[in-house]
Amino acid sequence: MAAQVFAFILHKDGKADDTALELLAASQKIAPGAAPIAVVAGAGPAIDGVCQELAAAYPEVWKFASDALAYPNAEIIRKLLLNVLPKGCTLLLPHTTFGMDLGPGLAIKMDAAYVSDVAAVEGRDGETLKAVRQEFNGQVSTHLACDMAGGAVISVRSGCFPASDSGSASGKVVDKSAEVGELSARRRFVEVLQAEVGDVDITKEDVLVSVGRGIGDKENLPVADELAKAMGAVVSCSRPVVDAKWLEKSRQVGTSGKTVKPKVYLALGISGSFQHMGGLKGNPFIVAVNKNPKAPIFQVANVGVVADVLEFVPELTDKIKAAK
Ligand code: FAD
Repeated sequence: MAAQVFAFILHKDGKADDTALELLAASQKIAPGAAPIAVVAGAGPAIDGVCQELAAAYPEVWKFASDALAYPNAEIIRKLLLNVLPKGCTLLLPHTTFGMDLGPGLAIKMDAAYVSDVAAVEGRDGETLKAVRQEFNGQVSTHLACDMAGGAVISVRSGCFPASDSGSASGKVVDKSAEVGELSARRRFVEVLQAEVGDVDITKEDVLVSVGRGIGDKENLPVADELAKAMGAVVSCSRPVVDAKWLEKSRQVGTSGKTVKPKVYLALGISGSFQHMGGLKGNPFIVAVNKNPKAPIFQVANVGVVADVLEFVPELTDKIKAAK
């Protein structure tokens, strides 16, 4: 019998994270034909809404409600999953900071294979999964074969498995709260610190013009400002731009910056590291401008322009102004 497949769902404020549907899309490539089960852990009635939302996409949702699960503590979630998952199963996680915290230790305890940050799946040959990861900040692709016979924990890179159309599963929600077992931990939740909003709130913008290290110098930022002004957009950036103090931290997109959900995202001189792309949610239309045709961002961009930003962007700005 094929191993059962589970997807661990992140959620916040009563809503499932966008990665929930990406894990479903990834499961169809990692374990074609399997009926993946969404695992939702949390406390209080807030997770009922999350479970119902997921049942529209997943055939089955397992709900685990307990006060000990009120905050996402990877040590506690690891115990929970060890208590409730069947031996030899496949577990999919989002490759977020939480997934990175949870995955490796869990795989060891499950005595399962661990593959992190899967960006693509090349196929399945019996129990062997053929997948692609990226190394050296996306400059090199690694093609790997993973024996999943004894179970596997696989973390999936955000943005690489576009969510398929959801809403047709009519799945069932199974309340398994009675099975959570012992959930003590040495790590304890202290407080949630809200990130500073800054002069503009990039999390609320529909169109972002985002600059990366490829912009070259602080003096070149007006090139992006002009384009943003012409498009009615706001400028955001990658982390090196903040580290160089060219823009303030509140403009940073990524796992250690802001999570944004624009409709359109222009990436200017951004390579497309998973830490950057991890902050980009909601399946936006991505336009990437990069002078390196092998830049990883082109793998997820809807439109890719191989060009020097300092030459291409002013021309684009002029054309937009002229069109207006
Ligand atoms: P690079 O990777 O250096 O890419 C620059 C790109 O510009 C290249 O692709 C190059 O081809 C192109 N380029 C150069 N010149 C030009 C030109 N003239 N015209 C066109 N293209 C040009 N990063 C984030 O962004 N957000 C985060 O929240 C974040 N959090 C992190 C957390 C941790 C724990 C760690 C370890 C790293 C984090 N990072 C984060 C850093 C991340 O790993 C990458 O280093 C970073 O995203 C790279 O930024 P970049 O794409 O601007 O720069």
